[in-house]
Amino acid sequence: MRSLRKTVLACCVLSTALYGIAQSSADPHVTAIRAGKLFEPKSGKMLENQTVLIRGEVIQAVGSNIEIPADAKIIDLSKETVLPGFIDVHTHLTFDAGSGGLQGLTTSVPRQALIGAKNARITLLAGFTTVRNVGAEQFSDVALRDAINDGDVIGPRMQVSGPMLSITGGHGDNNLLPFEYHATGDGVADGPDQIRHKVRENIKYGADVIKFAASGGTMSKGDNPLLESYSPEEMQVLVSEAHRQGRKVATHAHSALSIKDAVRAGVDSVEHGIFLDDEGISLMKERGTYLVPTSFPLFWYTDNMESMHLPKYTEDKIKMILPAAKISMAKAFKSGVKVALGTDAGVYPHGLNAGEYWSMVKLGLTPVKALQAGSINAADLMGWGDRIGTIEPGKFADIVAVNGNPLDDISVLQHVSFVMKGGVVYKTGDQ
Ligand SMILES: [Zn+2]
Repeated sequence: MRSLRKTVLACCVLSTALYGIAQSSADPHVTAIRAGKLFEPKSGKMLENQTVLIRGEVIQAVGSNIEIPADAKIIDLSKETVLPGFIDVHTHLTFDAGSGGLQGLTTSVPRQALIGAKNARITLLAGFTTVRNVGAEQFSDVALRDAINDGDVIGPRMQVSGPMLSITGGHGDNNLLPFEYHATGDGVADGPDQIRHKVRENIKYGADVIKFAASGGTMSKGDNPLLESYSPEEMQVLVSEAHRQGRKVATHAHSALSIKDAVRAGVDSVEHGIFLDDEGISLMKERGTYLVPTSFPLFWYTDNMESMHLPKYTEDKIKMILPAAKISMAKAFKSGVKVALGTDAGVYPHGLNAGEYWSMVKLGLTPVKALQAGSINAADLMGWGDRIGTIEPGKFADIVAVNGNPLDDISVLQHVSFVMKGGVVYKTGDQ
């Protein structure tokens, strides 16, 4: 909490410079937002003519009959739709799209942290006031999170994983160079002892959440998305150790078997879930496991694959998973499995994250459910349901606005006109 307050003070200075708002750090400034429409995620209702009263970084009151103090700064969003700041539980801020493969080996970890600073800003201005970054080299994402919290750079609130745990030769290993280079991915751990050690090491260096690869993936060389990577026993050790240390577990899982074994091991979320089958869906519903569908890249890659200049092994794997993934996601959405919004931004350009709302609706989720996936559900998965995800008294004033009604046209979320994080305005009008 201390670091969050520090962030707000630092950002207030910035916001004052940008917008000329006179603010005193001793007496928290009061802001009143007039909202023409306001989306309330818990009920799924669109409320009319609401006022949101904000004191400092926190929402103080919301309603249609709110008394506005005389010294309050008024922000008029009466012609817009106001929503809780968007939440993305699957980003890769420290990577740029198309920077994988051998080319990626030329980017140092410090450089990746700075790439992260660029992308954090882009992501915040796209309306995402909170992200969970799942997979970065070394602890570049920890540095980014801390820099944002200290007010050194602009970006969303972050939870970070550090390096993704992976088997030797798996999705998180470095499989590009021949043996004589002895190159190994930062998160590689085999067998219960190494896995326990790696989970503890990631936590030691700042991980809020543990990410691991239960199956192969597409952006990596030599591993197979159709096969399970870790054994069920290894996954159980990993999840129980993370949970013992108070960390949630996100698993990259493509193959049907890897999804089921990860769910049985107790993971909190299945990311991608490409070959999710009926049994996997039942298990997830039974255990309340979240699906993080990362569905927008399925559409984006259908249209933009060639411009990405991907290695052939990645292109082949993407072509193989695209049709299956769309079918699995549609089936999962119909089944009512719990869904949290995650984009995999970084495998496609940052800032397009809100396309995920559109693609989830395209695959059968209702607009209300898609909005809940990117608000209350994402907050719940992150364990931050008490601080973000709704516009309610006591929560951080993380608020965005769009022109138009997303319940009629979900694509309006891809053009936010207003972004506030912790009571500080970062975007207004057509900036
Ligand atoms: Zn990812």
